[in-house]
Amino acid sequence: MLIEEKELKETESGHPTGRDANMKEVFSQIKTDATGKVSGNYMRNKKNQLRLIFWETTAGCNLECVHCRRLDVSKELAEDDMTTEESLKFIDELSANMNPILILSGGEPLYRPDIFEIAAYAVKKGLKVALATNGTLVDEGKAEEIKKAGIERVSISIDGVDAATHDSFRMIKGSFDSAIRGFNNLKKVGMSVQINCTIAKHNADQFDGIYDLALKLGADALHVFMLVPVGCGVQIAEDQMLEPKRYEEVLNQLYDKSQESKIHIKATCAPHYFRIMRERAKEEGITISPKTHGMAAMTKGCLAGTAVCFVSHKGEVFPCGYLPVNSGNVKESSIEDIWNSSAIFSNLRDDSLLEGKCGVCEYKKVCEGCRARAFYDTGNYMSAEPYCVYQPKGME
Ligand code: SF4
Ligand code: SF4
Repeated sequence: MLIEEKELKETESGHPTGRDANMKEVFSQIKTDATGKVSGNYMRNKKNQLRLIFWETTAGCNLECVHCRRLDVSKELAEDDMTTEESLKFIDELSANMNPILILSGGEPLYRPDIFEIAAYAVKKGLKVALATNGTLVDEGKAEEIKKAGIERVSISIDGVDAATHDSFRMIKGSFDSAIRGFNNLKKVGMSVQINCTIAKHNADQFDGIYDLALKLGADALHVFMLVPVGCGVQIAEDQMLEPKRYEEVLNQLYDKSQESKIHIKATCAPHYFRIMRERAKEEGITISPKTHGMAAMTKGCLAGTAVCFVSHKGEVFPCGYLPVNSGNVKESSIEDIWNSSAIFSNLRDDSLLEGKCGVCEYKKVCEGCRARAFYDTGNYMSAEPYCVYQPKGME
């Protein structure tokens, strides 16, 4: 089952169909529903099921990217990274009653000597596992090990069409070529590989080129992230954050490319894309459904705390990797308890608590604005998203 298909593992009622459900049936039900109701219900995720969990397996990394969420990224494995034992216990608790896709990230997850043991254990426990890497350490042997561990998809970060752009953002000369080499090694062993690209001022004009590069390389998906001013991102925010108007233009470009349907393209941490998608579909007289808009019809803008969470290398749980509001620690409580009882998560699940223009916006249920950018702007994660040009009708 593909990672995307796994994301569809719920029926119209919002209940999970269970691990052994006939996925093809569910998938085809969603695909053939021209009204968009089934996918709409899936998107609303009324039960707030955890669908994706990002785990920073280590704070250690070989690169020093200027937009990293961490300020204290280390060239070595960090002393306070969760131990193998703690990691396996966390996976036991995660797989007991929850069934999310587990994304092993970092730092650089391939820094961890036990990363394949952890991945294989999670797969054995029934979880779908993906790996988010900078790709530079993926030689032929590592590619084989990734495949052998049962990892289903690898995402590699590429932040420009050429070495000059990518390397200047990643701060290490040669990192572009190494990432492309890593990408090709993974493709050779038959891995599904996705490109993650963070868009900021330095590469916004290269959007079309990055799209073409993803097609040329044979990527299975292109996930486009909009820079969030957190960690190192705060230091470069003034220089690198796109103006709201330019942000809008890039998201419109992304919409145009997604309609070419040549590759699965996803706007990530760009919540108002889901407003733009609806505005554009309306102009074009199209009803949004998985047939017309693919996976984007089945998800919404910000998923922090409602379908997604992030676990730090120390075990701290956050709504996402960019929203630094600590919601618990998996070394002290089970992830299930934290997910179900954190007051922060409960606030994020209540869209009536959204403030400012997001609070009165007719698109709030499909967008919600980026709670991390709101937090960066005001210190209040429920305040208005500062990088959206839209004036809700309720403001008129
Ligand atoms: S708050 Fe939401 S949109 Fe913003 S970075 Fe986190 S998950 Fe992405
Ligand atoms: S005002 Fe807020 S909820 Fe509405 S589209 Fe903009 S970011 Fe989204």
